[in-house]
Amino acid sequence: MKRVAFIGLGNMGLPMAVNLLKNGFDVRGFDKGATAASAALAAGVAMERSAIAAVTDADVVVTMLPNGAILRQVYGEIVPAAKAGALVIDCSTVDVESARAAHDMARNAGLKSVDAPVSGGVGGAAAGTLTFMSGADVEAFEAARPILSAMGKNLVHCGEAGAGQAAKICNNMVLGISMIAVCEAFALADKLGLSRQAMFDVVSTSSGQCWSINTYCPAPGVGPKSPADNEYKPGFAAPLMLKDLGLSQQAAASVGVETPLGQHAAEIYARFVAQGGTDKDFSGILPWLAARANEA
Ligand code: NAD
Repeated sequence: MKRVAFIGLGNMGLPMAVNLLKNGFDVRGFDKGATAASAALAAGVAMERSAIAAVTDADVVVTMLPNGAILRQVYGEIVPAAKAGALVIDCSTVDVESARAAHDMARNAGLKSVDAPVSGGVGGAAAGTLTFMSGADVEAFEAARPILSAMGKNLVHCGEAGAGQAAKICNNMVLGISMIAVCEAFALADKLGLSRQAMFDVVSTSSGQCWSINTYCPAPGVGPKSPADNEYKPGFAAPLMLKDLGLSQQAAASVGVETPLGQHAAEIYARFVAQGGTDKDFSGILPWLAARANEA
């Protein structure tokens, strides 16, 4: 049985770690947040007192952390403590530069390294149906396959170090823009006297269909169950979407590519987060926009 250290057992990390347990891996967790740590313990994950204690003797280390600065700091601790030849897999969404810095730290210490950010949200994490987009050499990617398969359904090897993060931020730029488009359409449809059910029934089966309406409909009581049906409790929190749009804009600037809708989406999410969206799901853009339409 492979021993897996899991660092960062938040909304995503905990259900992913639970799927590793279900697939017979010996999981040792660490989270610096007391609430996350007790939730993980209650879910059956053996929790350690430090990241270093969790990675000692682990064959594989999985990280699922909030951002690149924290990732670099955690790698600074765990890479020197990891077992010789261990495999490290970072599933967090971070900037390409931090992902490459983490790879360099790991490879310089003789570890196999993969960046494997995910798509599919907390529902996909719980169901074990995540998509993993990986950046790694072929040997490290193949070594990661059994671990990733226990937590996800689609594994895409996108290229060398950092390629997984590049794919992730491009995907999430599409998602941020498409969610705003769907919410604008619902707010407009309201004012045009169209029912939300009719709007869903048409768009979800017409050329406007996309994940943001078909799978994650931002209108409560319409379409499949989504955070909209739970008062926009995240889900995928608006500040995380803002973070991802910041990462895509940062990446676009670094390679000199114009992404005007990505830029505008980042500005809209920044306003939403500043005006009460901090604790809301990213689909909470709908009531925010609809309230503005009613004021107009
Ligand atoms: P989260 O805030 O719920 O979880 C992050 C966890 O990391 C927290 O429990 C926190 O206590 C822990 N942590 C922070 N610093 C730490 C440290 N130094 N050592 C150990 N633990 C530490 O966030 P999440 O929603 O689980 O997201 C995690 C990552 O996954 C993010 O990078 C996010 O962008 C990405 N992501 C999230 C979703 C989603 O739907 N929530 C979807 C795809 C990707």
